[in-house]
Amino acid sequence: MDQGINRIVIVGAGQAGTTVAFGLRKAGFHGDITVVGEEAHLPYERPQLSKEMLQQERPALRPMKAHADYEGQKIQLNLGRRVVDTDANERRVLLDDGRAIDFDRLVIATGVKPRQLPDSLHDPVRVRYLRTVDDADHLRADLEAGKSIAIVGGGVIGLEVAMAARAMGCTVTLIEAADRLMSRSVDEVVSRYLDQAHRANGVDIRYGVQAIDLLSDGTLKLSDGSIVPAESVLVGIGVTPNVGGFAHLGITDAAGVRVDPCGQTAIAGIFATGDIASQPHGTGFGRVETWANAQDHAINLVRNVLGESAPYESPVWFWSDQGHINLQVVGNATQGTRVIRGDEHGDSFSVFRLDEQNRVTGCTSVNAPKDMAVARRWVKLGTQVDMNRLADTAAPLRNSAL
Ligand SMILES: Cc1cc2nc3c(=O)[nH]c(=O)nc-3n(C[C@H](O)[C@H](O)[C@H](O)COP(=O)(O)OP(=O)(O)OC[C@H]3O[C@@H](n4cnc5c(N)ncnc54)[C@H](O)[C@@H]3O)c2cc1C
Repeated sequence: MDQGINRIVIVGAGQAGTTVAFGLRKAGFHGDITVVGEEAHLPYERPQLSKEMLQQERPALRPMKAHADYEGQKIQLNLGRRVVDTDANERRVLLDDGRAIDFDRLVIATGVKPRQLPDSLHDPVRVRYLRTVDDADHLRADLEAGKSIAIVGGGVIGLEVAMAARAMGCTVTLIEAADRLMSRSVDEVVSRYLDQAHRANGVDIRYGVQAIDLLSDGTLKLSDGSIVPAESVLVGIGVTPNVGGFAHLGITDAAGVRVDPCGQTAIAGIFATGDIASQPHGTGFGRVETWANAQDHAINLVRNVLGESAPYESPVWFWSDQGHINLQVVGNATQGTRVIRGDEHGDSFSVFRLDEQNRVTGCTSVNAPKDMAVARRWVKLGTQVDMNRLADTAAPLRNSAL
């Protein structure tokens, strides 16, 4: 370990930042660790916000660690505070309360924030976003009140909320500008399955339209002129990176804070991890907005912050729970030759994607976690498979590997 490192500052008290902080102690780092986080709550993992926290029986928020854990590990938490500026030469961050904190190593783990609707649709009472525990509390109150919900965006957040809202008896309209659900991340076959499942659950889905006017009678006007019930509007149309405080350093790109395979920015000693990191991705760079990346990239980063050069490499993997549907996606699940294993009209199947050499490059599983466990290994290893055996559910999946 580099003994010249005495003070490590982590900006962003979310999943990745917290993982780095505790990881540093686990790796034997004895110097100062300071975490600065804008939210007042103890750091927590966000998947619970659109799942457990919107269920009828609301469990308490589960923080990642208790106060005593931070004290025990001598990790100094500054919650409810934001970093507003960074001096890379002086190695110092400035907080919104005027305090400055010096660092030898800086880890940027500030995540992303929801992309907003245009100003013409601004309404702090009716329009909801879902990123924080406070957002989840507001949305939950609307669901409990039985308000009609218009969901803008047919991605993971929108679909998970649609299930929760229907379970609480709300009228739900889902508005998607594209022509299918989760179009950026899943196969068309899976989009069709999701469409049918959510329609069967009572969701009114409108494709190829946008919200254009929030009417005072509790409705929403769409771009095709139709009017839908919308006492509450949940917006899930993507995110933008939290680069405030770092934007002037010359280390950002359109996606976030640009890093090399080791999580290192263009400035020595300044790193980024989690959603904010614009990582090497295919032939370019991009954010990986998943729980697994916030954990595994952060764990790997610890070694690099302490002086190693350990590149991070892992296929993208995420899951989404939508009522009875467990969806999992690994790798590039929208390109390549499609092989379906199982009945795409049933409630459990997987869609594999193969390259020209029949190597598995991606997979989406619907209520088929065992398939996914194998697919994750295959995508990582670039395993070649026999297409016919892959599609044959009578034969064990692992027998498809060549
Ligand atoms: C509702 C919801 C459900 C999800 N469900 C799933 C799922 O099922 N599966 C899955 O794989 N992924 C899921 N995700 C994605 C996953 O939660 C994220 O990828 C993960 O939280 C990223 O962690 P992070 O630490 O990078 O960012 P975050 O957890 O967002 O933490 C960043 C923190 O930095 C703070 N911050 C920002 N700017 C500053 C600043 N200047 N100074 C100080 N603090 C700052 C922010 O307030 C925030 O608290 C979900 C996300 C959401 C919102």
